[in-house]
Amino acid sequence: MDIGGTQCGAAIVDADGTPHNLRRIGTPSDVDAEGLFAAVASLAETVRAGERVDGIGVGCGGPMRWPEGVVSPLHIPAWRAFPLRTRLEQRFEIPCVVDNDAKAMTLGEWWRGAGRDASALLGVIVSTGVGGGIVVDGRLLHGAYGNAGHIGHVIASPDGPRCECGANGCVEAIASGHAIGVRYGGGIDAAGVAARARQGDDRARSLFAEAGRALARGVVAAAVLCDIDRVVIGGGVALAAWDLLAPTFESELAHVLRIEFARRLTVHRASLGANAGLVGAAALVLRPQG
Ligand SMILES: [Zn+2]
Repeated sequence: MDIGGTQCGAAIVDADGTPHNLRRIGTPSDVDAEGLFAAVASLAETVRAGERVDGIGVGCGGPMRWPEGVVSPLHIPAWRAFPLRTRLEQRFEIPCVVDNDAKAMTLGEWWRGAGRDASALLGVIVSTGVGGGIVVDGRLLHGAYGNAGHIGHVIASPDGPRCECGANGCVEAIASGHAIGVRYGGGIDAAGVAARARQGDDRARSLFAEAGRALARGVVAAAVLCDIDRVVIGGGVALAAWDLLAPTFESELAHVLRIEFARRLTVHRASLGANAGLVGAAALVLRPQG
């Protein structure tokens, strides 16, 4: 399952990573915690349709208490400290694993997408926020609290705009869809800013240029620290506006990535699209990584 602020998806995923019975619903916004859980459980029930499944893997927006799967997703206000993992296990009587959605997407791309066969993969997800994940030697890194790979709060520009975390110049404060919309102003979202950039609006163009540079700096920090050999960039904002992000991303990468070992790094666009989160969530349970 893939649970986000806009949509919830579910599918049966085979041992080889192929999704079936895929179904998505709009995330209900006019319900309380129990109402939302009822919608999510009913989606899972519909998709399972009586099939035997080994477990339920869930990629969910953060923050969350990991590995307990007690979630407080930023973009799902109905759930604050909601015990999603326990509730799903009680309801379906099978094991459940809940992890961060960006980590699940990275694992999905490593298993079946553009990250296949990478020794050390960094996934960067640019959507409303900026998240990420790291798979090294076939293992998804978790860290002490489950936040390993959270590239959104790497500082890209110390004099940059204030981030919601309280620091200045985080990648997320410059490159997220939310930040691009807010910085442009006028209630226009990132897709609207992208449309204006393509029409030649200088301020819109410079916001995407700055976002591309910030992403490159975040990627370089992670690449050097974790000896990354491949980067997969996905998420709605990055995939829809890569034409606007790529020029400065690539020039900044060439400018700051100098040390010999890291220069072998290759950067790819995510190839599983909207299914990466579902496939990766299944991998949390099926553990194709061993
Ligand atoms: Zn931050």
